[in-house]
Amino acid sequence: MKKDELKSLVTQLYNDLIDNIDAQESPNKDQVAEYLQDAVLTIQSLNENQMDTIEHAQQAFTNAYKIIAEQGISSYQETNNKFLDLTEKHQANLEEYKNSAMVDSKVITEKFDELHQHMTFEVKRANSVIENLHARIKELEENSQLDSLTKTYNRRAFNLYLTQLCDKEKIQEDMHFLILDIDDFKNINDTYGHVAGDKVLIFITNLLKKTLRDGDKIFRYGGEEFVIILNRIDNDSCLQIAHRILKLVSSNKLIYKGTTLQVTVSIGSTKFHEGDTPVDLLERADMALYRSKKNGKNQMNTEIK
Ligand code: GH3
Ligand code: MG
Ligand code: MG
Repeated sequence: MKKDELKSLVTQLYNDLIDNIDAQESPNKDQVAEYLQDAVLTIQSLNENQMDTIEHAQQAFTNAYKIIAEQGISSYQETNNKFLDLTEKHQANLEEYKNSAMVDSKVITEKFDELHQHMTFEVKRANSVIENLHARIKELEENSQLDSLTKTYNRRAFNLYLTQLCDKEKIQEDMHFLILDIDDFKNINDTYGHVAGDKVLIFITNLLKKTLRDGDKIFRYGGEEFVIILNRIDNDSCLQIAHRILKLVSSNKLIYKGTTLQVTVSIGSTKFHEGDTPVDLLERADMALYRSKKNGKNQMNTEIK
């Protein structure tokens, strides 16, 4: 649970207390004490799962990644040390042959075979460690809430976050919901290839990360579609931010293999309303996005309830 959420819970408990006192004709100390006791129990009953946020999930992901990287490095060092040992042994063998008057080819062959066996064994061991680490990274990414290409939150995080927001008794009315869709992205892939397309996705997310505030959330909703949730913001500021994004994207150029790629995006926005479900928000923002596309792209439209 975040600080804001905890604050709103405490505020709600406080308001309930005042309502309770107002409702009593002559409230006494015991009634207030009883209510406060209930409030304490409510706070105490917040369990660890409820405290879990996607920021925590992101931290857990980074930590797990670090552990895998450390294991990868130590496995590499182990292999490296074994190879150094083998090289030393090989060197010693060569010295021995140099100094001996007679060269026994059988002994030499045996020594080389032994060396070869050790090396083959070590290469197999190292390969299996690498395969295992690869599999763990894949599993980690699949279970994580981060999109591996753009390092923004993924669709899974989006579903979780939005459901949590909409399930709250009181929805914050100063939140805005934006869908951003890259214009003619298929054309970029078809003309310059998928790698160029991937670079465009990273380019756009970097611009978004730079221009948005810490509390704002960016999700990769689909292939070339992003959802942005803006916190504590009025309609005019939301408009300004959307226009700033449009301008930033269209005026920054991405150079790919010596070619300048010109990219634009279209945006559809809506505002959170009491009683909204995730589907309501998506449908309204989608409607607005559809208008942006239909009216010529590289623009934003809003659908307010
Ligand atoms: P519009 O302006 O109407 O949005 O047209 P568009 O071409 O952007 O939209 P369309 O839905 O026709 O094409 C989206 C393309 O995005 C098709 C798909 O191949 C591509 N795409 C989806 N995910 C990825 C990805 O991760 N990397 C790359 N390079 N391309 C992707
Ligand atoms: Mg699209
Ligand atoms: Mg598109």
